[in-house]
Amino acid sequence: MKLTAFFSLSALSALTALAPACTPTSDRADAYDSLTEALGGGVLDDTGAQHAAFMREEEKLARDVYLYLDARYDHRTFNNIARSEQRHVDLMGAVAEAYALPAPAGTDEAGVYENADLSALHAQLVTAADASLVAALGVGALIEETDIADLQSALEDAPPADVAAVYTRLLGASQNHLRAFVRALAAEGETYVPQVMPQAEFDATLAATPTHGRGQGSGDCDGSGQGQGQGQGRGNGNGQGRGNGQGRGNGGGRGR
Ligand code: MN
Ligand code: MN
Repeated sequence: MKLTAFFSLSALSALTALAPACTPTSDRADAYDSLTEALGGGVLDDTGAQHAAFMREEEKLARDVYLYLDARYDHRTFNNIARSEQRHVDLMGAVAEAYALPAPAGTDEAGVYENADLSALHAQLVTAADASLVAALGVGALIEETDIADLQSALEDAPPADVAAVYTRLLGASQNHLRAFVRALAAEGETYVPQVMPQAEFDATLAATPTHGRGQGSGDCDGSGQGQGQGQGRGNGNGQGRGNGQGRGNGGGRGR
């Protein structure tokens, strides 16, 4: 199952290495705002416009699947990451607006996409994920693997700097999400085998440490990242902790 209906996969480990896992010194919302404010002024050629339209819907697919799985399973990872994906949908919507891309005919309704392949894939993924929590977490990891490959493909086509910055941000987020799903699977006693990414790239991605973890729920860094830095994060033990400054509570509620 691949989301790359239009674009061939390419494993650009160099691009992966360039992607920041998280931005340690800026608030996430501010970081998204600054990316949005920087949009415009470049030139998106037809291929670039296709990439942008596709990534917009692929982010929406991720959001739609995770929202469904959040309702289906009592596992916080889905809710945490769904909220991150919503920001990505919004960000790609801002790209579309800045570059006057044709508005998708579909609505914001879950499972509805301009790209018919994505509509079919959404149904397929949801069905697969219905089988069990482990299956659902595996679907999450697969979505993130695919997202990474497609973002790398989009970056390979050298979009304007403002759009490249967006993709790089999304790429770092997907790497965090992939780690989160793989860790969640490990907690269930399952070892995730990469289905899209070469094993070496997968291993490197898993080994990379986000520059910070984050508190419950919001942002790009996964919910079980390891907090670093000297921040004043306060965890209350149930995962609601949020760090201040550069410190972030980790997903287990042990903010530091
Ligand atoms: Mn995303
Ligand atoms: Mn993601």
